[in-house]
Amino acid sequence: MDPQAFDRNRRTFILAAAVLAAGGALSCEQPQGLKRSRSSKPLEGGEAGASGATGASGAGGDAAKTMQQGGNAAKQPSANTAKQGAEAAKADGTTPKPPAPPVERPLPPTTEPAIRVKSGGLPKSDPKIRIDGPGAHLWIIEPGNAQPGTVGQSPVEFRWTDAGWKATEAAGTSRARPLALPARATLEIMALRDEPQRLKLSGATSIAGGKESEWPGTVRLVPQPTDPNEPVDVVHEVPMETYLPGVLAQELFNKWTVNVHRAQAVAARSWALCEIAQWRNRRHFDVVAGELGQAWIGATKHQRSIDAVAGTRGEVLLWTGRVVPAYYSSCCGGERASARDAISSSIVHDIPPLMVTKKDGRDCCSSSPTYRWQSKFDLATFARTLPAWAREEGYASLFKVDGLRRIEIAERNAAGRPVRFQITDAKGMLYEVQAERLRFALNADPARPGNLRPSKDRLKSAFIEPLVVGKELVVSGRGHGHGVGMCQYGAEAMAKKGAKPSAILSRYYPGADLVKAYA
Ligand SMILES: [Zn+2]
Repeated sequence: MDPQAFDRNRRTFILAAAVLAAGGALSCEQPQGLKRSRSSKPLEGGEAGASGATGASGAGGDAAKTMQQGGNAAKQPSANTAKQGAEAAKADGTTPKPPAPPVERPLPPTTEPAIRVKSGGLPKSDPKIRIDGPGAHLWIIEPGNAQPGTVGQSPVEFRWTDAGWKATEAAGTSRARPLALPARATLEIMALRDEPQRLKLSGATSIAGGKESEWPGTVRLVPQPTDPNEPVDVVHEVPMETYLPGVLAQELFNKWTVNVHRAQAVAARSWALCEIAQWRNRRHFDVVAGELGQAWIGATKHQRSIDAVAGTRGEVLLWTGRVVPAYYSSCCGGERASARDAISSSIVHDIPPLMVTKKDGRDCCSSSPTYRWQSKFDLATFARTLPAWAREEGYASLFKVDGLRRIEIAERNAAGRPVRFQITDAKGMLYEVQAERLRFALNADPARPGNLRPSKDRLKSAFIEPLVVGKELVVSGRGHGHGVGMCQYGAEAMAKKGAKPSAILSRYYPGADLVKAYA
């Protein structure tokens, strides 16, 4: 596992339901204008068909669900974060491997790449999945095996057992019968060649998405025999431009502007290309669909998302000729974070588009319901959880924290966002901790500090001012997500004032070139 992945294991920006909407003056910096290279093509905010918002609330999927459960009108983005390292370790069923050499940012691809998206896994309790094709048959191959594969009558049900695969073709019909397959191999399932590559999946409870049930591309069922919870991973291989509409439809409120959809398409594409470069030869998927990566619901009918991807086809953000991992999150709370502070210390983050400088003024995201919020924690419980969590995660510097007297901001970034905190324990000893790390510690489940609390109980960001009040730790917080790169609420506010996608991207990734990498 490379250093970045290792670092990513230590972080999560998993997001919870919203609490308070705060007022405050809208104060936006003027966009500076995007630096363009010659090969770049202007992004125009042409009128895309503003049709069919599919979700009642606009924001898709997990976000909307969380929101509805919480009873708050909050947007929950998935802050392409980064527990993929943990995912990788989990997938391998091993502890993290020794660091591999650091990954450089990729060169822009000259043709459209495919991306491998893990959408979920088959649960150990009932490890089966039914796959329905667009036609009468499905084609099942063993990747890497020269054999032509097996054609089965659709739908085919795949069940993982101690003896390997048991498959049934024409499952659920009177013609149902066993289908012979390689017992323990990874299986790749696809429609026949002259059919649209769209599959329907049912039965796997942890599959992402939900409201739209068709999945573009092929599906791989990858056995993970040592995984205690999900013995099979479900991984889709999809062309990049086919993948992206299902990201936008879930990452943004469907009713949001055309231009914010276009800016989001460029950011999501750029980020995904960097994940491909990082993971292609290291594990069996590039990104996770959902809060551990970026959201994805498979095929979408949301026309604005489809048009925004088509209208920016191949367009990526570059810095010195290489792709920028264009992180984004729901709401920065007014001041943004640099990737080095909030994601990891990887060298790929030491680039101006991912840094925060003094010139970076207050962001205009105060319409977010998570612009300001407050959480409370039982002080004694957190005092017990913190060193236990540190032991789980291997942070030796925090092993000896004994009780809690104070937590104060030790250092802020140029924009004023905390990057480190100082903890004073009951004995008066001082400890320093990075902001995102403190957030992770506060989000640890007191009963099992290696695990996260339920998402509704988690801190929404590390942009916090903690205060000990009696027996409680009162946390005044701002924003939702890691705060690096594009702030989705801020971007939408800019777009509503008429900003073009290029101006939005310029504000949030300063100095980056907007380039059309492939046609
Ligand atoms: Zn913001």
